[in-house]
Amino acid sequence: MKNDNCIFCKIANGEIPSRTLYEDERYRVILDMGPATRGHALVLPKEHFENLYEIPDDWAAGALAAAKKAAVLMKDKLGTDGLNLVQNNGEAAGQTVMHFHMHIIPRYKNDNAHILWKPTSPSAEELDDVLRQITG
Ligand code: 5GP
Ligand code: ZN
Repeated sequence: MKNDNCIFCKIANGEIPSRTLYEDERYRVILDMGPATRGHALVLPKEHFENLYEIPDDWAAGALAAAKKAAVLMKDKLGTDGLNLVQNNGEAAGQTVMHFHMHIIPRYKNDNAHILWKPTSPSAEELDDVLRQITG
C-alpha cells in the first residue's frame, strides 16, 4: 500500500525523482539530501510502513539486504573506512519522515560526524531492574 500524502512513497516509487544508487522490486536506495557524511543514503521500501513496529518481518529483512548491497558499493567505490546503520522510530528518536527508512552512513577516518551516543554508568541494580521489567 502506498500513502498519497507520503513523500517517501512518491520517491520510492519514482513519482519524484531522486539520486538512486540501488533499486530492486521492493526497495530504492537514494542519497540523503542532508547527508551526515559523503554518500549518506536511505533505504526506502516501496510500500508504506510507518516504522519498525509496523513493517512486516520479510520487508525488514529485505531492507537490511538492500542496505548491504549499498554498503558494498560504497566500500568499493567511495573507499569508506566504516559504516553506521541508523534507523529512527518515533519523534522521540528523531524520526522526521514517518515512512520506514534505514540510514546508511559511510564513515571516514577523522570525519568528525556526530552519530554515536554518550555511554552512561547505571548501577548493577538498575541494569537488573530494567531486565526484569522487559522480560518479566
Ligand atoms: P529521519 O530523521 O526521519 O530518520 O530521517 C529523514 C531523513 O530524510 C533526513 O536525513 C533528511 O535529510 C532526509 N530527507 C527528507 N526529505 C528528503 C527528500 O525529499 N529527499 C531526500 N533525498 N532526502 C530527504
Ligand atoms: Zn510512505
